[in-house]
Amino acid sequence: MTMTPIYLYNTLARNKEQFQPLNPPRVGIYSCGPTVYKDIHIGNFRTFVMTDWLRRMLEYNGYDVYLVRNITDVGHLQNDMEESGEDKLEHAARTTGRSAYEIAAYYTEQYMRDSAELSILPPHLSPKATDHIPEMLAMTERLIERGLAYAVNGNVYYDVNRFADYGVLSGNTVEHLRAGGHGRQQMEIAEDKDAPEDFALWKRGDESRQMSWQSPWGLGFPGWHIECSAMATKYLGEQFDIHTGGIDLVFPHHEDEIAQSQGANGHPPVRFWVHGEFLILGNRKMKADAQANEDDSIKMSRSKGNVILVSTLKEEGIDPMAYRYLLLTAHYRSKLNFTDESITAAQHALNNLRADLAALPTTSSQAAWSAEAQQVQQAFHKAINDDLDLPTALVITRETARNNKIAPQERRHLLLDFDRVLGLRLNTVEAKAPRVLSDEVHALVRQRDEARAARNWKLSDQLRDQLQALGFEVRDTSRGTEVL
Ligand code: AMP
Ligand code: ZN
Repeated sequence: MTMTPIYLYNTLARNKEQFQPLNPPRVGIYSCGPTVYKDIHIGNFRTFVMTDWLRRMLEYNGYDVYLVRNITDVGHLQNDMEESGEDKLEHAARTTGRSAYEIAAYYTEQYMRDSAELSILPPHLSPKATDHIPEMLAMTERLIERGLAYAVNGNVYYDVNRFADYGVLSGNTVEHLRAGGHGRQQMEIAEDKDAPEDFALWKRGDESRQMSWQSPWGLGFPGWHIECSAMATKYLGEQFDIHTGGIDLVFPHHEDEIAQSQGANGHPPVRFWVHGEFLILGNRKMKADAQANEDDSIKMSRSKGNVILVSTLKEEGIDPMAYRYLLLTAHYRSKLNFTDESITAAQHALNNLRADLAALPTTSSQAAWSAEAQQVQQAFHKAINDDLDLPTALVITRETARNNKIAPQERRHLLLDFDRVLGLRLNTVEAKAPRVLSDEVHALVRQRDEARAARNWKLSDQLRDQLQALGFEVRDTSRGTEVL
């Protein structure tokens, strides 16, 4: 395993911390997955690609990663913050005439197809919420037994006041919430809750719902957060290494997940909470139904109708890999602006990188790395281990492609080695067939090297011009003249 330390920004500590797995060499990661009632957009994919890079970075360091990303196919309400309205899947079923299960299957397939287009490695496990109702019921019962939840009218609520650590992740303590923090509107519509800050573990259902299950409290369906606690505990254990998601999930989703898992199992579930910033829209036209108020209009969100899909990119002639390249240009904890200019620039830069790589010859034997190549590799390794500093890693990659101090074959090896982390599919870029050099060209190269050794720059320049006139690109390297 690696000797280069890994640092990650831990939302829980509000700081970068050195990462050490609980049970090396294994690293368990839980990543909140898509809600499959509508298209999964490129904003969602920013978060999934971030987790993919985290996984690849850990694998590059020699760890044995086990990644679980769930599929949320039940439980999200039309207004999650207020915990009111119809279940989103049920709503989609009612308005489209398709069954809730058909809709979930359709968007799950779109998510898997687009994940593959973006070169996201498949998670080791993609559990569906609807397959884990018994686990959710068991955890809910456990919370009631431990005095942390109560049942009323067929609903079960988490008793937030009984959990002393509430607010540990987001800073949204009960006092803060009561004072109007975080705009949690659900505080006003308390309905049958003991306290407005309590949240639902189980909701009462009725026969009209397509997705309802029997429970000790009658027919119903799970609340928004319990699925992730139940599935993470089942597949990664009561304590695991890393939990990821988009920044909007810190509260209430992940705060509530801690309350549920710690409440049921007795200890904090996650060592590192890693959250990715949002993809925002710059000068893209919004769809007609998008709300036009300032802040919200640039946040890509399904409810606002301003979404771009992987298929939209392809229709516009943009390679999905160019989007992945664009994501590499910003740190995952910074907002990233998607504009026509930024995606076009990413496409050009990717094309250039591919062209540079294609010009580098392949070799069957891998000699030991030269000192220069080792230095570059260390710099790359250090960057990715420093809280996934991929913008720096990308600059190193681009410079490596043109670094004349490193032999061309070795440059190719380095680029492919780096791409194990970047995931730009550079290994599909074929090397151009090496040009067969005529005796005349060989002679010019030899004469030029002799002229340079004799510090006869005038002659050396003349010979370079002659080679260029013959259609060659001339590079000066530590090993002498190189023609491409
Ligand atoms: P959802 O399907 O809405 O539950 O979202 C799936 C994941 O995408 C979550 O981790 C969200 O935080 C994340 N997400 C949603 N919108 C964006 C965005 N515009 N940029 C980055 N991540 C997002
Ligand atoms: Zn989740």
